[in-house]
Amino acid sequence: MQLIDGKSLANKIQTDIATKVSKLKDEKNITPGLAVLLIGDDPASQAYVKMKAKACKEVGFYSIVHEMPTTITQDEIISTIEMMNANPRIDGILVQLPLPSHIDTDKIIEIIEPKKDVDGFHPYNVGRLVAGLDSFVACTPLGVMKMFEEYNIDLKGKDVCVVGASNIVGKPMASLLLNANATVTITHIHTKDLAFHTKKADIVIVGTGVPKLIKKDMIKEGAIVVDIGIIKLPDGTITGDVDFPAVSPLCSYITPVPGGVGPMTIAMLLSNTLKSAQKREI
Ligand code: NAD
Repeated sequence: MQLIDGKSLANKIQTDIATKVSKLKDEKNITPGLAVLLIGDDPASQAYVKMKAKACKEVGFYSIVHEMPTTITQDEIISTIEMMNANPRIDGILVQLPLPSHIDTDKIIEIIEPKKDVDGFHPYNVGRLVAGLDSFVACTPLGVMKMFEEYNIDLKGKDVCVVGASNIVGKPMASLLLNANATVTITHIHTKDLAFHTKKADIVIVGTGVPKLIKKDMIKEGAIVVDIGIIKLPDGTITGDVDFPAVSPLCSYITPVPGGVGPMTIAMLLSNTLKSAQKREI
């Protein structure tokens, strides 16, 4: 069994991004800029935004965090996004999800200028991804693809089971895999017999938020398992969707939690923001 070390790979990618940022500043006087909107007081969201802002600083980006109270109106959020759409120093706009229940998340995402949609959630970018065209791709599934690339895992013709079908994880993951010529099965909460699908897969990618959902008897010998889940248990420890101690001995490759997909998500956010800045029209 080999561990897929997301932390090291993310560090390597960030170092490479920092070099490119420095070049972009020297040659074109462009500093990539990321605006993050943090709405409400969800501790997990606050922690994620803090990590993103720190990573931006480390690679030399300009970044701003707009903190807004839970009571904010939808129109006020829209005005802030419109301001960021028009701000030439901002290449990427990220609205930290989830949003308070009185806000229409789909509407907010659609206000973001697709060229600055570094989270890849705008229907314009989602459509381009499905069509196999260049687009901003959601950071978590993009990070998983980078891991496959780094570890020379060929996807062509592989049977891949994606567990979880959210707009930010499972669905874009499935599109990327299909674009890479894998045979993809998408499963979700209503799937009748989850183990039937996971057991025959060469690669299982799971992002559900259900701790230890994937057990030993659901995985075939030699499979590759990617665990996207991040769950904070009542005792404060972080776990994933896979029963790691039981499943890992069976696998050819597996990602740990923490230190697997999580750091890659942030690295891909930086990568998408740099890509946007490189296309900046000056
Ligand atoms: P979500 O709640 O939007 O979607 C969960 C998906 O899992 C749904 O499609 C649901 O049908 C499916 N599901 C739930 N229970 C299931 C079950 N018993 N069997 C099969 N499918 C089931 O969640 P999300 O935003 O996609 O996040 C999923 C997990 O991934 C969470 O733990 C989240 O913290 C984590 N996540 C991690 C990163 C990262 O950077 N590693 C990024 C985003 C999300």
